[in-house]
Amino acid sequence: MMAFSAHVGGACGRDARTEFMATIYVLMGPQGAGKGTQAQLLADRFGLPIVATGDMLREIAKTDTPLGHHVKAVLARGELVSDDILAEVVKERLCNNDCRGGSILDGFPRTLPQARLLEKAAQEDGCRIVVIKIDVPHELLLRRLTGRRICKRCNSIYHLEFKPPKVDEVCDLDGEPLFTRPDDKEEVIRQRLQLYMEKTRPLLEYYDETNRLYRVDGTGTPENVFSRIAEIVAKESNGGSECRSMSEV
Ligand code: AMP
Repeated sequence: MMAFSAHVGGACGRDARTEFMATIYVLMGPQGAGKGTQAQLLADRFGLPIVATGDMLREIAKTDTPLGHHVKAVLARGELVSDDILAEVVKERLCNNDCRGGSILDGFPRTLPQARLLEKAAQEDGCRIVVIKIDVPHELLLRRLTGRRICKRCNSIYHLEFKPPKVDEVCDLDGEPLFTRPDDKEEVIRQRLQLYMEKTRPLLEYYDETNRLYRVDGTGTPENVFSRIAEIVAKESNGGSECRSMSEV
């Protein structure tokens, strides 16, 4: 497995001194905080690409390869996929041209080694990192997660309580039966939240110490939450453009 640090960022061939200083927005929070929904709203408003490692890994898990089988089993157990595999997956995505002007990370980094690798990559490419943590009380997280349903065909996301389909358990768009992701089963959810507390929560301190952490209230409607996040992104985007002249010095 290739080293993340050698291949993300600098390997993309960007010159930090001459390019607009792009911002990587990292959405953080436990499963059920609404990162995916907010990432989509941000992408629509600000025209930034979403890098959602969970989605990327689920695609890999569908492939009939040794890697696909391995990832599928790890996802079903609600465990974390190894940092080495994530390094490979993320480096390729971040080097894509559409990420040159910045990106929205959903689900990455999730461990301290991943955060350090992202840091190095961002430095090499002259990108800034801004972290937005979505705060949601534990009980609400559980309600959100256990009611979530997905359409396998078009990937639309529903919720039995908060965003029910018109016909029970059927996709509004294509009539496919909805399903519960294996990792949204209750015992797996518990395991995933436990892992979040152990491995991912410490990252908040890491970003807070360097003044790059914002916390937003994640309760209320998706639109309520979005207006809080959009304010931060709008402010930080202005900061980003100011960095252009600094980076040219
Ligand atoms: P998500 O859709 O972000 O909740 O991710 C679904 C699953 O993908 C997680 O429970 C992990 O098994 C795996 N996964 C996603 N992102 C990462 C990551 N950065 N590091 C390790 N595993 C990940």
